[in-house]
Order: sequence, then C-alpha cells, then structure tokens
Amino acid sequence: MKGMSLLKQLEINWFVPGPVPVDDEILKAMVHQPCYHRSSDMHSLLEGINQNLQWLFKTKNSVFISTSSASAVMEASLRNLVGNRALCVINGSFGQLWQKMARSNGIQAASVYFELGKEADPEKIAKELQSRHYDVVTVVHTESSTGVQNPLEAIAAVVRLYPDTLLVVDAVSSFLTTPIDVDVLGIDVCITASQKGLALPPGLAIFSVSERALRRAARIENRGYYLDFLRFRDYYKLSETPNTPSVNLLYALAVRLEGLRRSGVGAEIRRCEEMAETCREWAKQRFALFPDERFAASALTVIKNVKSVSIPELNQFLRPRGFQIADGYAELKSQTFRIGHMGAVTKEKLTTLLDAIDSFLKEKKLL
Ligand SMILES: *Cc1c(COP(=O)(O)O)cnc(C)c1O
Repeated sequence: MKGMSLLKQLEINWFVPGPVPVDDEILKAMVHQPCYHRSSDMHSLLEGINQNLQWLFKTKNSVFISTSSASAVMEASLRNLVGNRALCVINGSFGQLWQKMARSNGIQAASVYFELGKEADPEKIAKELQSRHYDVVTVVHTESSTGVQNPLEAIAAVVRLYPDTLLVVDAVSSFLTTPIDVDVLGIDVCITASQKGLALPPGLAIFSVSERALRRAARIENRGYYLDFLRFRDYYKLSETPNTPSVNLLYALAVRLEGLRRSGVGAEIRRCEEMAETCREWAKQRFALFPDERFAASALTVIKNVKSVSIPELNQFLRPRGFQIADGYAELKSQTFRIGHMGAVTKEKLTTLLDAIDSFLKEKKLL
C-alpha cells in the first residue's frame, strides 16, 4: 500500500516550530468513534476539558476551542474586537501577519516596528499608545520567524494603562514553553494552537477571551458569523462548540490535559527551557544565534547560518538518521535555520540531532 509506506516514512523526529512530535498515548486516544457533538458524552468531555484549560491558562476567563489552525482565531480577534483601529507590534513575520490580516479585513492597523532579532521595546509601544487611541494591541509573544521571545510582562503592563485598549496575545508558539499567566498579565485574548507547545496533532486553536473583550464584541456589528466570539460563549455555557468540532482531537486534548495535571506545567516548561539552553550553547559554538540572547525563545532556536550551509542538503543528510529541521522563515530563509524544541521531543534526541549536524559539518570540512 502506497499510503502506508508514505506514513512509515514520516516516523521521524520533526525538530520544527510545529507541527511537533506527539506522544503515542495521545495519538492512541484519537482512535475511538467520534461521538455526537450535541450528546451528553460531549458535554462530559468538554466540561473536563474546559476546567483544565482554565487551569492551564491561569484564568477565570472562558477558554474556547476552534477547529482550525491559530490563524483563523487571529483574524477573528481583529474582526470581533476592532471598531476603529488596531496597533500591531511587529518584529518579525508573525507580527507582520497580524497587520496584513487586519488590512485585508478593511481594519485600520498601525504598527510599531523593531529590527528583526531584537525584542519589542515597551517604551516605544507606550509612546504610540499616548499619541492616539487604539481598540486593540496585538503582540506576538514568541516570534517564530526570528526566535525572539518578547518581554510580554512589560508590554502588558504598558497596555494595561489604557482600560479601553484590549491586549491580544499571539502565544501560538510560546504557550507551554514559558510561563504565561493570563489573569495576572490582564491578557484579553490569548491564542495558542494544538500543534505547538501543546504537543497535539494540528487542527485546534485554543484561546481565552476576557469578559471585557466579549462586551466589546457585542458592540461590533460585522464581526462575522462562523468565528463570532459571542457564539463561542453561548455554546461554551452548554459545554458545546458552535459547530461540529474535530471530536477526535478533543479526545487527544482531554488526555493531554489530564497528563499535564499529573506532571505539572512547571516540569513541561523546564524541559523545554533546558533543551533551548542546550541548543543555544551548541549554536553559539558552531554558528551564532540570530536573536539577542537575552530574548532568545525557549520554543525554538533560530541560528544564523554563518557557514552558509545548504539547509535542504543538511535535511537530506538528517532524514535517514531520523531527523528534520526547519529552514529560515520568509526573508530570513537562507540567512538562518530553525530548530524547534517543543512537544514530545527529549533532550536525548536533541543531542543526537546536534551530533548528526556535527557529522554533516565534518563531512563538509566546516568543523
Ligand atoms: C505557528 C504560528 C502561527 C500560525 O499558526 P497556524 O496554526 O499555522 O495558523 C502564528 N503565530 C505564531 C507565533 C506561530 O508560531
């Protein structure tokens, strides 16, 4: 069977910034009949999931689940919450994506720019907020194109001085790789996706929405239908989702959340931080880090390709050894490459990967 042999080929360790490897236990949880999404079985399933998600997001806000990738909810946040104008904090491709999404929906979006590889400076954001009113500020926590983890606490503190300005955080790749305390920071919308730190297969976007944000949405006329936050809220109260969800992914999510309850979020985050540390030390000896090290992310390491290695060739070398990494993102495509260390990867496997890259470098007489 051709399909099966393709699937066999995919049994490798993907050290990329999503999708990330998933534990077998989680994959197995999906191999059950999908239940009817308006049944009491679904209600029990979602009651448990919803409670655990509030615990995980450290919030009293509702945490909604959308069967989509994160981008759908990014766009929905803009449509649901911006009456006049958004401010997009941009220091990489994902920050830029927010502005693109706003504009393609006819929403005015100004920006504060920072150099690629540098962190977003809260003072510059403060200045912009002083100069005019914004309905929403969008901030990417970990900018997956540059490997910068923005100083979210300091940025949140600045935005919180403006009670009518909602803080929308793209925590898609930072979630579960570094602590995020939604209520302490006062985040109005915090978005992540199943295929990153949560270490589930792709297909779910998970996002908390504050009461304040829901009140705002109620005043926005054309906020769309399918991803209307108020519909999410109404169905949430029934322990349902507005439309048919990916039921089998919800099984996986339930099992994953129970696992996190047992092992603790701290342990998960420490594991990721340790791998990042290992990866950075290796990268500094062999290449150089792309981001300023003080703001280097724990989700992924973005490495300056100072040896001008061909990343496709490197990946060809790695494949039979059971590994794949990611090339640079957008304009950083050949200047950098990226090693993701989220999800069900271990330090042992990371070390084996780095050794394999060393073998490649030796073969090329670059080490
Ligand atoms: C992956 C990622 C996204 C996009 O997520 P999708 O689930 O592919 O839509 C957005 N922002 C950041 C920072 C990401 O890493």
